[in-house]
Amino acid sequence: MKLIRKKSIFLALVALIVFTLVASTGNPRYLQSQDRQPMKNCWIAGSAVKPEHLVGFCTNLTKLNISSLTANLNLSAKERFLAAIQSKLPIVPPAGNYEYILLRAYGAAFINPNPEIKLPPKIVFADDKEVKAFQATLTMGKVNNTNDCYLQKAAANAFNRAKAQVAIALKSGYGASDCTRDFATNLRFWRKYAHNKTLEKIKEGKETKILGIVAPPGASQHLWGLAIDLQVTNAKQKQALYQNGWFQTVEDDIPHWTYLGELLDKLAELGLQNKVVRGASYWVTPL
Ligand SMILES: [Zn+2]
Repeated sequence: MKLIRKKSIFLALVALIVFTLVASTGNPRYLQSQDRQPMKNCWIAGSAVKPEHLVGFCTNLTKLNISSLTANLNLSAKERFLAAIQSKLPIVPPAGNYEYILLRAYGAAFINPNPEIKLPPKIVFADDKEVKAFQATLTMGKVNNTNDCYLQKAAANAFNRAKAQVAIALKSGYGASDCTRDFATNLRFWRKYAHNKTLEKIKEGKETKILGIVAPPGASQHLWGLAIDLQVTNAKQKQALYQNGWFQTVEDDIPHWTYLGELLDKLAELGLQNKVVRGASYWVTPL
């Protein structure tokens, strides 16, 4: 009996020492992860998330509730954001390159947790063919009381719920160009505002302001069926949009609203940063 008790005390001591060692060398909070599955290395080339931060939950990331996971972890905003978008954008472009600059400007949409919502497999489409191939995979829904304003179905449903609460007009009223666009429309808008050298300057990191006026060819959120341009003039309209997962996410693009499919109090948890510019409240990426 005495021997058994001694043995138990010894085992408890060993367990305590092992736990202390693990806790001091690793990140103890990851040991509390709900994911007890065998782990494999899921480090993404160029990602800002350090591999050791991913260990313990990356394998089954898509199966987990990202919101509760990120809330439990003491990660930086950037790390929380990259964790939140991982199921929608498995390959994050290297910091500083053109795609990364575009992800910083338009990537808030990637936090959308709804499995029915599709995000593009890449940040920028090369041409009309690529856009058409992506758009062919989308399930679309119509915005009520418009001629031809279509969005991804879940986004359209959410917007229609906001519209049922309070009247919200499209920016131009033309429908299609305020909603889901094709590559040609994106290109036409771009040529209206940009000149020959603009794209080069963006790629060199010397020009960012234009990204809030018009998206470079192939990079618009409107190609994804997750953006709509609106005339929002009062707090009641904003409230209805927020309650239904719609937010302003592109700095300085006042009429432009993005479907995030999350509630306001979740956005910071997922790493988005609130930026108030001239009275407009944007939720931008932490990149
Ligand atoms: Zn827009």
